[in-house]
Amino acid sequence: MVVVMRPGAAPEEIDAVVARVESAGGSAFVSRGVQRTIVGLVGDVVVFQGLNLRAMPGVGEVVRVSKPYKLVSRENHPEATTVEVAGVPIGPDTFTLIAGPCAVETPEQTLQAALMAKAAGATLLRGGAYKPRTSPYAFQGLGEKGLRILAEVREETGLPIVTEVVDAADVPLVAEWADMLQVGTRNMQNFALLQAVGAAGKPVMLKRGMTATYEEWLMAAEYVAQRGNLDIVLCERGVRTFETGTRNTLDIAAVPMVHNLSHLPVIIDPSHSGGRRDLVVPLSRAAIAAGADAIIVDVHPDPTAALCDGPQALYGDDLDELAAACRDLPPLMGRRLVS
Ligand code: PEP
Ligand code: MN
Repeated sequence: MVVVMRPGAAPEEIDAVVARVESAGGSAFVSRGVQRTIVGLVGDVVVFQGLNLRAMPGVGEVVRVSKPYKLVSRENHPEATTVEVAGVPIGPDTFTLIAGPCAVETPEQTLQAALMAKAAGATLLRGGAYKPRTSPYAFQGLGEKGLRILAEVREETGLPIVTEVVDAADVPLVAEWADMLQVGTRNMQNFALLQAVGAAGKPVMLKRGMTATYEEWLMAAEYVAQRGNLDIVLCERGVRTFETGTRNTLDIAAVPMVHNLSHLPVIIDPSHSGGRRDLVVPLSRAAIAAGADAIIVDVHPDPTAALCDGPQALYGDDLDELAAACRDLPPLMGRRLVS
């Protein structure tokens, strides 16, 4: 941390800052410039934050130079992390396709969607049993029954399952069935939920809040990590902007930006970001080219009858193009498609 004194700050004001830092066990290094003096602090940032230095006479600004997140930061952990989901890697050397229905509706629909996902090259199955819907009148998911359907489909297809949990109280039950727990955009800052998934002993996919900054997103991941779970995958799913043509605006820069800030895998959801079937393949190509470690794609055997997010679900006919992108592009990025 650095304390920037006001121009013309009195020597005793500078001395008072140094004394307060030293009395808290830190070291302070004073650097006197022509215009102003800065004081560099070495020690525990959390302790310094409690010192209220900003309120001291003569202090202009207190600037943090290290990242507020620790466990998930690249600065403390330079090597990129590979997260294994029931043996399926998501990390820097590979590219992983995750696909499936937005929501689990029936055993037949879930199995058919899983077979579509598998045909496109997916090695993980997505599907929501608990759906965080904007409208309380919309289909809310099958709950525990949906988890049982997912487990049956896993048995039949061999695809491990990624499924959302929306309430901290449901975490033990969902963790019993799921191979990876998803925290959705609307719950990114549900801190009780983050702590509960952090303690559940399963890998976590943390979607970016629809108006969250990179720092807020990584601080949310830090809540999970703090409970002893570093198997976290970060999913960019589009952010809120002024544009209404797409459901959300895919922030493609999030991939290289967050890879620089964190050692955790970063993946893209081209379905929930564009919100339109015709954008899924182009956004998937962009995701791979930007260096995403995986994508998570909605597919449905009959999107016109889908109970949730039909307009963005791929039809069987669209899968060849998706499969080709996932097969041809990752090698250009030095990655192997997980199969
Ligand atoms: C989902 O993946 O089913 C979902 C609800 O996504 P998001 O949280 O990104 O809206
Ligand atoms: Mn959805």
